[in-house]
Amino acid sequence: MSDFTITNTVDADLPDPFVGKHLIDGQWISGSETFERVSPSHGAVVSISAMGSETDTELAIATARKVFNRGSWSRLSGKQRATIILKVADLIDANIERIAVQETLESGKPIAQSRAEVGGASDLWRYAAYLARTSHGDSHNSLGKDMLGIVVKEPIGVVSIITPWNFPFWILSQKLPFALAAGCTVVVKPSEVTPSSTVMLGELLVQAGIPPGVCNIVLGYGQPVGSLLTEHKDVDMVSFTGSTAVGKLISNACSNTLKKVALELGGKNPQVIFPDADLESAADAVTFGAYFNAGQCCNSSSRILVHEDIAEQFIQRVIALSKLVRFGDPMNPDTQVGAIVTADHARKIHAHVQAATADGARLELGGKIFSVPRLGKQFYQPTILTGVTPNMEIAREEVFGPVLSVLTFQTLDEAIAMVNDSDFGLSAGVWSDNIHTCLEFSRGVQAGTVWTNTWMDGYPELAFGGVKQSGQGREIGHYGYEEFLEVKSVLMRVGRSGAPWVQKRA
Ligand code: NDP
Repeated sequence: MSDFTITNTVDADLPDPFVGKHLIDGQWISGSETFERVSPSHGAVVSISAMGSETDTELAIATARKVFNRGSWSRLSGKQRATIILKVADLIDANIERIAVQETLESGKPIAQSRAEVGGASDLWRYAAYLARTSHGDSHNSLGKDMLGIVVKEPIGVVSIITPWNFPFWILSQKLPFALAAGCTVVVKPSEVTPSSTVMLGELLVQAGIPPGVCNIVLGYGQPVGSLLTEHKDVDMVSFTGSTAVGKLISNACSNTLKKVALELGGKNPQVIFPDADLESAADAVTFGAYFNAGQCCNSSSRILVHEDIAEQFIQRVIALSKLVRFGDPMNPDTQVGAIVTADHARKIHAHVQAATADGARLELGGKIFSVPRLGKQFYQPTILTGVTPNMEIAREEVFGPVLSVLTFQTLDEAIAMVNDSDFGLSAGVWSDNIHTCLEFSRGVQAGTVWTNTWMDGYPELAFGGVKQSGQGREIGHYGYEEFLEVKSVLMRVGRSGAPWVQKRA
């Protein structure tokens, strides 16, 4: 590992394990059984959580239904809902450190990243509060003198929110404040690997004065908690982020009751680099896109397409930068890349790399599980594979690790075809100083987000989501908010009806 940059291991006592309970109808409920989370970097138990059962889940759904129907949240004014959502945003800002430390211990991600993630999430809450107050429907005043039509928007009802482990606090904040702003009631199930920051957020919601039963949290596993949240007839919508495989199961489960389903799933996101680009910035963005969150990110740019004329020099640039990325103890504020979330997942990443070399890809850098001094053996080296061809599994499947596949191309049309030759369509990026290249690329690629001369920027105002097997529906922004609303048309006659349907006989 001497080729790479490893940060120092921090000498500090870990906090006592966080004890997580379910939040149902405003009450904190311990389970008769619990489950533990062992920190992927430190190997110590960092949380003990109530294990959700079918009964807990039924109770949480029944509560969310009852509270929705009662209208104690759904019929509040937008201003009243926004007031509480804004308080939550302020409380998040006041609790960044506590939440960030727990997030880092459970996920293995660097503390600097957790702080930025939690701190940044409060802005999503503030934007959702703004939407709660400004949301409106349409009026149709051109239907004739005796008719006025209005289209009103109403909260969709009870929403199940199921989240993964890679950005537990951020992904929840992409969904929950928007659902609450719309007037929905919710039941949240975080990943069993990273449950605690969701419980901490629940504490802040209670502190902010959210009425009991509006936001319920059930901790536990996909079975039985997650699956009941998707099958139950009293749930009106499921909002899920996670793997494409589980997304498909959820979509099937939802079809039995025809409930709405919003899915944010995997990606195989390419950055495409043209010779006229600012290659220094492009190489930096490629490095960031490959290793951010140890590549455990739906938006990771796990494949790049480099123009043949610059491929060799560009790869050397990326290799040099990769060696400078600071891997190591997630509790060290200088660390940029931490541990892999579970030992199983680290093995899965390694199996992908081995399969790629067996398929003929060349390992230019990394390709090994490694340990950091005084920490566990659950880190993965920054890894670069060249000679990758479009049909190799490594070019097509989501690896979810710090592994970059390099492909080459000759023309813009060829690059667009290679981008689109994928089951996924989450995001794509282009690097060129030619505006026409950027525009043609943006129009031609099948993706929910296109970045030109940048990578992974996002704002609460802009929608996020994928096409093809990367998902359906959108999150954040005005469009994400609309997902949690139903549309109702109201037609109102003005004055007495002029022409009766039934003609009276003389
Ligand atoms: P999953 O997609 O398996 O799980 C995500 C969430 O769904 C978790 O809360 C999980 O609970 C829950 N869940 C699992 N099965 C069901 C079900 N049948 N019905 C309802 N909910 C269910 O992600 P994993 O965390 O297991 O990771 C597996 C792989 O998914 C990763 O290796 C990665 O490739 C990919 N992934 C992609 C993400 C993305 O953002 N695109 C995010 C995370 C993972 P539980 O954890 O208890 O099973």
